[in-house]
Amino acid sequence: MYDVIIIGGGPAGLTAAIYARRANLKTLVLEATACGGQIIITPDIENYPAAMHISGLDFASRLESQARELGADINFEEVTDINDRGVEKDVITDSNTYATKSIIIATGTKPRKLGLEGESHLVGHGVSYCATCDGSFYRGRVVAVTGGGNTALDDALFLSNIAEKVYLIHRRDSFRGDAETVEKLKAQPNVELVLNSNVTKLNYDKTLNSIEVTDNDGNKSELEVAALFIAIGRTPATDAFANKITLREGYIDGEYCHTNIPGIFVAGDCRYKEVRQLVTATSDGAVAVHEVVKLLNKS
Ligand code: NAP
Repeated sequence: MYDVIIIGGGPAGLTAAIYARRANLKTLVLEATACGGQIIITPDIENYPAAMHISGLDFASRLESQARELGADINFEEVTDINDRGVEKDVITDSNTYATKSIIIATGTKPRKLGLEGESHLVGHGVSYCATCDGSFYRGRVVAVTGGGNTALDDALFLSNIAEKVYLIHRRDSFRGDAETVEKLKAQPNVELVLNSNVTKLNYDKTLNSIEVTDNDGNKSELEVAALFIAIGRTPATDAFANKITLREGYIDGEYCHTNIPGIFVAGDCRYKEVRQLVTATSDGAVAVHEVVKLLNKS
């Protein structure tokens, strides 16, 4: 029986694991893919106190080592459900069921999808949600980015140094992201802005061949691209808990990291809050464990 099971091995979950082990709790982290979460795609973290010039990958790897060194178990399994049995709870994964006295949900967010036919099937074959991870596969090729926030702008700038040409497709004529980055993009000769337009179709056989773009007047055109990088924001990764935990706009509603179920807590970007940053994710991890300790001391 674990004292606490933490679902998600990003900065919130791993910080919770560090605090839980420091409080001598028997701790298990369940992570579906690889530790680190969204931070691993950040090339250089510039806004985390005292961590100057560290890549997201190094940051995540240090967090994981710290949690392991302190004695947290970390298993790579996808959580499919949770079951509240009162004082005890179960966490159900694709391969096991674990009993625990408390749960911290720290599943973060996932990329928003365009919802086009073939989109999921083409991931790794011309569709990507991470330019820094996959950009180098398209060196010297023609690629497209869609989105108008800072992620899309940064991705287009990053890709302009790798690809032969980058189309940046955005549904409006002004960008949500920083004006300074827009100016840098406009100065890149191999970047073409395709504004007031949406990607409406993916043309492919085994890999992506081209995309259909439709402007806001309904005119369609076809762009031959080897890859489409989709950067249209993120949505909370809360589907597995939606029928049990109270959500607010898809995020888990949780003041002081509590949820509507006693003994089940939430931490990090999947929690309903205004500021989603690395520092608020790690802070949530500490707060959630503080609340777990209070609960376990009472029982
Ligand atoms: P975001 O700021 O929410 O931008 C999402 C973009 O996608 C918007 O331009 C939106 O268009 C567009 N979009 C949404 N749904 C769409 C759809 N179905 N079809 C087509 N376009 C769609 O998301 P983000 O860029 O991932 O950034 C998230 C947060 O991280 C932001 O606060 C951002 O500033 C921050 N961030 C900062 C940096 C940095 O400081 N360098 C880097 C990356 C991210 P509309 O504008 O028309 O709504």
